[in-house]
Amino acid sequence: MTTPILSATNVSKSFGGLRAVRDVSFEVRPGEMFGIAGPNGSGKSTLFNIITGIPFGPTSGEVRFKGERIDGRPAYAIARAGLCRTFQKDAEFPDLSAADSLEISAVYNGRVDRRTAARRADEAFALVAFDGGRRDMLSSELSVFEKKQLMIASALVSRPAVLMLDEPASGLTRPEIEQLDALLRNVNASGVTILLIEHVLALLLSVSQRLLILNQGEVLAEGEPSAVVRRPDVVEAYLGK
Ligand code: ADP
Ligand code: MG
Repeated sequence: MTTPILSATNVSKSFGGLRAVRDVSFEVRPGEMFGIAGPNGSGKSTLFNIITGIPFGPTSGEVRFKGERIDGRPAYAIARAGLCRTFQKDAEFPDLSAADSLEISAVYNGRVDRRTAARRADEAFALVAFDGGRRDMLSSELSVFEKKQLMIASALVSRPAVLMLDEPASGLTRPEIEQLDALLRNVNASGVTILLIEHVLALLLSVSQRLLILNQGEVLAEGEPSAVVRRPDVVEAYLGK
C-alpha cells in the first residue's frame, strides 16, 4: 500500500474539561477525495484546526503529512509544506478585484514574484472555472458562488498537495451545489488531494471515495460512503440530534 499523504493517529483536543476530539485516527491516500461528516458539534472543524495548526495543534496524538510529523509545527509552515485550508468567511479582500485579490494571495502564500503570481492566479481561476469576464469585479460584489470559487482559488494559488474545505456548500442553491460538485472533481483530477467536511450529504456521497463519520468527538464509522451512511448507528447519530 502507498504511504498515506496525510494521517492522524490518536489525535485529541481538549478545551478545559471538554474533549472535543478524542483519539481520532484516519489515513488519506494521495489523490483521494476524503469526506468527513457528523452532527453539529461532533468535532469536525476542530479536527481541521488540529491538522492545520490554525489556531492550535492537538493536545495529544500525531499528525503526519507525506510521512513527516507536522503536529506542533507553526501554521504557516504547515501551509507552506502544501497543506491548505479554506474558512467559512466572506471575501478576504473585499475592496480588491477578484484578480488582484488572487494575485496578492499568490504573492503572500506562494512567496513568488508578481509575474509568477499572475500566472498562478490564471491557473487557479481556470481550475475553479471562474468567469473570465468577472475577474475585475470587486470581490465584495461577486455572487455567493463566485465568492466560493475565489476562496478555493485563493488556496490553490500556493499549489497545495492537500486542500481542506470546511462546509463549502453552505449558503449555495441546488444548482450551485452541482457546480461545486464539478469544481471539486476538476480540482481533484488536477492532482490535489481533497478533505471535505460537508453537511450536504448528497454532495459528500457524490464526490467522496471514502467517508469518515464523527460523533461526539470520536470516529463512529469509516469506509465506502454509501455503505457508511446506511449503518444504523450512523443514521441514529444523525436523527438522534
Ligand atoms: P463541528 O465542526 O463538528 O460542528 P466543532 O469542532 O466546531 O464541531 O466543535 C466541537 C466541540 O468543541 C463543540 O462542543 C464546540 O463547542 C467545542 N469547541 C470548538 N472550538 C472551541 C474552542 N475554541 N473553545 C472551546 N470549545 C470549543
Ligand atoms: Mg464545523
